[in-house]
Amino acid sequence: MAEQLPGLPDDTARAPQPAASPDHTGPPEPAASPDHPSPPEPAASPDHTGPPEPAPSTEPAPGPGRARASEPALSLEEATGLRISSQLDPTGELREAVGDCVHCGFCLPACPTYQLWGEEMDSPRGRIHLIGQLLDGASASQAAAQHIDRCLGCMACLTACPSGVRYDRLIGAARSWANQSAGPEDDQGAGPRADIRRSGGQAGDGSQEASPSPLPPRSRRDRLVRAAIFATFPYPDRLRLLVGPLRAAQRTGLDRLLDHDTLASRLPPELAAALRVAPRLAVATPTPVKLASRWPAARREPTPIRPPRPSKPRRAGRPPERIPARGTRRAVVGMLTGCVQQVFFPQVNVATARVLAAEGCEVLIPAGQGCCGALSLHDGRRAEAAGFARRLIETFERAGVDAIVVNSAGCGSAMKEYQELLATDSEWADRAAALSAKVADFSEFLAALGPAAARHPLPITVAYHDACHLAHAQRITRAPRDLLLAIPGLSLAEIPDVGTCCGSAGIYNLVQPQAAADLGERKAAAVRETGADLLVSGNPGCALQIASALAVLESPMPVAHLAEVLDASFRAHPASRLVPSKPG
Ligand code: SF4
Ligand code: SF4
Repeated sequence: MAEQLPGLPDDTARAPQPAASPDHTGPPEPAASPDHPSPPEPAASPDHTGPPEPAPSTEPAPGPGRARASEPALSLEEATGLRISSQLDPTGELREAVGDCVHCGFCLPACPTYQLWGEEMDSPRGRIHLIGQLLDGASASQAAAQHIDRCLGCMACLTACPSGVRYDRLIGAARSWANQSAGPEDDQGAGPRADIRRSGGQAGDGSQEASPSPLPPRSRRDRLVRAAIFATFPYPDRLRLLVGPLRAAQRTGLDRLLDHDTLASRLPPELAAALRVAPRLAVATPTPVKLASRWPAARREPTPIRPPRPSKPRRAGRPPERIPARGTRRAVVGMLTGCVQQVFFPQVNVATARVLAAEGCEVLIPAGQGCCGALSLHDGRRAEAAGFARRLIETFERAGVDAIVVNSAGCGSAMKEYQELLATDSEWADRAAALSAKVADFSEFLAALGPAAARHPLPITVAYHDACHLAHAQRITRAPRDLLLAIPGLSLAEIPDVGTCCGSAGIYNLVQPQAAADLGERKAAAVRETGADLLVSGNPGCALQIASALAVLESPMPVAHLAEVLDASFRAHPASRLVPSKPG
């Protein structure tokens, strides 16, 4: 059994995800205080006893497009005549969450952006204070809004907070405000009042929002980048179109040239970041995997228990819709294929299904799953996320499964939140809750199921990276370690900064490329320090980010998913399959 690690929650601790299984519904347990015996004091005046003073003003700052800087800013409350708290926080839930913060500072050392910049306003406590001010009717400046956008949403502060402050709800609301304020007419000389007038219009996700936004609009460039990301990443067929150009860039060595500052500085930083984190050919092969040939059992065995579904023509590289259990059937599980996972890491989906089948699960992989909406949800595009969620709920309802196994931490976290996302939709609330209750991370599901397949030795040392949406959002840290340690010959090396975000964080490494690169480099250095043979993570974004950062450090350490390690052990593969430098 893996030991409890400082900075990480216990799997048995109750998670702050309201949509999680009954085991994951309470406030987070306090972080072990010995790690933080002396939390940082608020960055306010020495005699400060209350909330920290925010470093930047929440008044609109002069800047591009703010021609009427001398005009006094109106607060939202003044401009609309309505109480802000009732517009932004109709149930009072956000105000209550802000009020729960006792400003103790225990969360500060755990926060990656506070670690990077040491700024109070880039800490959870500072952001909570800022959000409280916005709820009170303040209008944020661009600078203040940036402190919100710089948050990774990694939820390390949830784990660290002894008071159970629901920071996830606060940052989720703030992100939705940021999307609401994305109007087409900023950058055109409008003043702070225009920010207020624009608020309450169309949200960034295309939905109509009733509430005004207290945040100023993002820059036109930022909005364009986000629009491009959200027009591509949730759609695997569109994402596949990027694979060819990315491979061409890698073949010609263009991506390597990015290491030279001159080329990187000529490219838009977001494009340079995308090229940097694109999967290396050695890490993942985007070529469609011949899945049917990987499952001899799927061809050999008829359908012993369940009548066969009418077969549909299957596109090359698409998984079969049903993989029978090996031996006695123990469960019928649905499998999410994911967007990034199926395009950049098809071999992880192959390994996941094969491991599940080997453990006695009949695996159903419904076609037409679409995106789960994780990227949208975590970026505050709630209406867009709700659309994806409804489609996925319908798809898995039709499949009729006992559980839905997810091998991507961000996707699993979002699906466990469907219950909350659709809570006010009378048609969908119960269906969303039913789906959320069935969702389990790959490691969580296997640990609960118990082993059936034989484990063969793998004499390697593995560094396990906790994806934030697994460790902090879903509170799963022990299960993947226990599964790894159950493999004979395998040893674990803990990463020194365990529990700290690698900088991937959904689309963060594309919209905040410098901060993400700095965090990635720190993480890669910490991973390298372990001297492990292999890095294992349960999230495709983390795998891309850390593999890219390890390449910058010229580390040859390969990166794999837990499913690939288990699959190699089940199939008695030599260690060299996972770690090419290993003999055999
Ligand atoms: S979510 Fe992560 S980056 Fe954001 S405030 Fe919390 S710890 Fe800091
Ligand atoms: S969020 Fe929690 S840990 Fe951080 S300052 Fe507030 S009460 Fe303390």
